[in-house]
Amino acid sequence: LKLQYVDMIDMAIQSIEQTKSRASDERKIRLQLVSDDKLGVQADKERIKQLLFILLDNALKYGLPAPQGEITLKLDKQQGQVMISVIDNGDGIASDDLEHIFEEFYRGRHRSSTNSSSTTPVIGTGLGLTIASAIVRAHNGAITACSEPGNTEFKVLLPGAD
Ligand code: ATP
Repeated sequence: LKLQYVDMIDMAIQSIEQTKSRASDERKIRLQLVSDDKLGVQADKERIKQLLFILLDNALKYGLPAPQGEITLKLDKQQGQVMISVIDNGDGIASDDLEHIFEEFYRGRHRSSTNSSSTTPVIGTGLGLTIASAIVRAHNGAITACSEPGNTEFKVLLPGAD
């Protein structure tokens, strides 16, 4: 890892812009700042970029399409740690899938988010979250997921810097 000071607010804004430009629709993606503190982490910038890419990409793929689809990237500070959450309002993750999603090649059962009546599965390898959790672990952080229909949240805790 190439550790440096990473301003998470800057990083979040960039990742959201990038995700919006990749979205095939006008989906709402907003940034919610819960703390007014500086939200810095001592981290490998490229890896954190990848981490946000994976979580936002999943929110795009499995979340609702526009106009109902909404993705929130939330940043907060908790006891010196920076919390990053990615929330979407899609159909969510079945409870029997939830305990396996961080495993290599594991894919949940789902249909295309762009056409819920279609049986075309969302394409993927099942590696995104495995990579995300490896990145988080390498930074001595933690990643968790909770989900119910209409509300899926991935929470990442990283040791804060400053
Ligand atoms: P790839 O990594 O190639 O994009 P993938 O999306 O299937 O493939 P992961 O990112 O590891 O792989 O996700 C594993 C599974 O977790 C997905 O197949 C999906 O079932 C479920 N999942 C992940 N994020 C969400 C989400 N935001 N909403 C609903 N299901 C999700």
